Amino acid sequence: MKITDRRSVLKAGLGGLAGAASLPLIGGLSACARGASAEPLATQALTDRVMLVTGAPGNLVALSSGDGVLLVDSGAEPMARSVQASLPARVRTLFNTHYHADQTGGNALFGEEGATIHAHEITRQWLSANYYVPAEDRWVPAPPEAARPTETFRQTGEMTAGDETVEYGYLLEAHTRGDIYVFFRDSNVLAVGDVASPQRDPSLDWYAGGWLGGRVDAMDDLLAMVNDDTKIVPAYGPVMSRADLQAERDMMTHLYDRTTELCVTGHSAEDMYEMGVMDEVDREFEDPQKFLYDVMKGLWAHYTNFGGATV
Ligand SMILES: [Zn+2]
Repeated sequence: MKITDRRSVLKAGLGGLAGAASLPLIGGLSACARGASAEPLATQALTDRVMLVTGAPGNLVALSSGDGVLLVDSGAEPMARSVQASLPARVRTLFNTHYHADQTGGNALFGEEGATIHAHEITRQWLSANYYVPAEDRWVPAPPEAARPTETFRQTGEMTAGDETVEYGYLLEAHTRGDIYVFFRDSNVLAVGDVASPQRDPSLDWYAGGWLGGRVDAMDDLLAMVNDDTKIVPAYGPVMSRADLQAERDMMTHLYDRTTELCVTGHSAEDMYEMGVMDEVDREFEDPQKFLYDVMKGLWAHYTNFGGATV
């Protein structure tokens, strides 16, 4: 099965049980079903103590800190055991960059084994109740208690893990309304979740509060944090340099300027597509119409941020 996006992952994790509403979904899965395969995933050393895990289906970042692992994102639920098998030690601390199932599917496994789960407060809220996926007109059941973040924040924070200073903080409405970065300051590795997307179409979960203006602002915040040696890890795709991040930010800024300008003059997503807005950037989008649709949903939700006074 080729997993291409979040919705595919959701189907992979839950599809077999779809419709069986009386079944206790995620929480009722056995450890075996939760991780059908325990083959380790591919890993790559980013520094002597920070490791990249790929294919979960996205990227995870793991810091070895002497008394266990600090892990950024837990992967999709069917891969949880494989993620676990890829790590050098038990997960003591887990961060979720946002609530999506391909970043939080392993939470239950690691939570049950004693990991402390950190996330933005909004992410905890999304994981604490059933939520609706409008593009598919269906509900995703809330994960079990053990999968929910217990340590939450709204702005920034810092902790020490072994010799590493770990900084984390909010990225305003960049992809959802609860996105965060996790910065391994001493190792100079920055995990940014789905706020940068060098490979897949940048995704804006407008239903959860993500929008293009928030994404541009968040990318500016990230650029201010990094230098030319920083290894920037997106949720999917290759590790990025500062120049890569700058290029993506500039592309998103162009699209923000154009779509807001066209939005206030009464144009629809379809108009923008037909006017060739997506051909103005140096990037081939897999589904440019969906991207513009999601952009417009977010712009309407934030119209007063850019559209001037309304009455
Ligand atoms: Zn996401």
